Amino acid sequence: MHHSQKRVLVTGGAGFLGSHLCERLVEQGCDVLCVDNFYTGQKSNITHLLNQKNFELLRHDVTSPLYVEADEIYNLACPASPVHYQHDPVQTTKTIVLGAINMLGLAKRLNARIFQASTSEVYGDPLIHPQVEQYWGNVNPIGLRSCYDEGKRCAETLFFDYRRQHGLTIKVARIFNTYGPRMHPEDGRVVSNFIVQALKNEPITIFGDGSQTRAFCYVDEMVEAFIRLMATSDEVCGPLNLGNPVEFSILELARKIIALTGSRSSICFHPLPGDDPKQRQPDVSLARQLLDWEPELSLDDGLIKTIAYFDQLLMQSR
Ligand code: NAD
Ligand code: UDP
Repeated sequence: MHHSQKRVLVTGGAGFLGSHLCERLVEQGCDVLCVDNFYTGQKSNITHLLNQKNFELLRHDVTSPLYVEADEIYNLACPASPVHYQHDPVQTTKTIVLGAINMLGLAKRLNARIFQASTSEVYGDPLIHPQVEQYWGNVNPIGLRSCYDEGKRCAETLFFDYRRQHGLTIKVARIFNTYGPRMHPEDGRVVSNFIVQALKNEPITIFGDGSQTRAFCYVDEMVEAFIRLMATSDEVCGPLNLGNPVEFSILELARKIIALTGSRSSICFHPLPGDDPKQRQPDVSLARQLLDWEPELSLDDGLIKTIAYFDQLLMQSR
């Protein structure tokens, strides 16, 4: 059968990043198959796509093999928030490693291009700053974050071995902290936590003294980079850092969100969770060069859009 439309499979497509990616691909006219087991994803993230002719949803767990047809695969299935990936750590490693094996096997059979949502967590608690792709990282193999960090490192290994051994076209992105509308209000990551707390005038929960740093990228800019990376020539395989290089301390983030929401929230300090990286900032020179891409939206402007989303969501649930 002849297919004029590009068939794209997105695993984890009902999640935060996956749903934005599906939306963009549907807009571009691709034939999109969204696969998700709804572990952390939400139906409401994709209900607006269900009536589109070129969108299809399949409830499936990527730890089991999948037999479908596709020209491109974006492998995003995996809980991303520390709270959720630590809830059932064995399942997290299975999702990442077995999910990678199953999706790579599928890509091999179909001769499809395959994108892997890897993470800045492969650098662990980094000893060099900012992080460049050549850095091998400083990862604890037996800590609370290891199911995720080592799982994602093993997935990268699998991707590169499928490339070397089977000639697959792979695209490995190391995603740094990304935020925006459609994060789950109880997702547990810092931006959604602080915004929800601020909007409810509840105390802002800072873990540690708030001096640890992160650099935050707005979701639309991240999804643009995914699509550009997938479209690069076969030799471009990554790993490629994707993120906004402007770094903030968690205390600065809390103060910003309080100011932007006009909240009466106080700031309270809780113990720092195990293995929480002290600093993180991507060097995105390679992405700039290969994708002609650079995040431009300021944290303030991205937070304003995200706050508007949560404000409406909380109003509806009242
Ligand atoms: P998310 O939790 O919102 O989305 C993950 C999706 O995967 C959810 O819809 C979930 O139900 C689904 N899923 C989980 N296990 C599954 C399984 N076994 N089978 C099928 N589906 C499954 O998280 P997100 O922020 O959208 O993250 C998407 C991807 O990007 C993840 O792989 C994550 O590791 C990676 N990533 C995200 C960030 C970020 O800041 N958002 C940073 C680095 C890496
Ligand atoms: N954090 C915090 N309060 C919260 C949630 C997170 O202070 O309610 C801190 C967390 O300890 C970490 C940073 O914010 O230092 C980013 O956490 P997140 O879970 O968003 O992602 P990470 O980059 O650690 O994977």
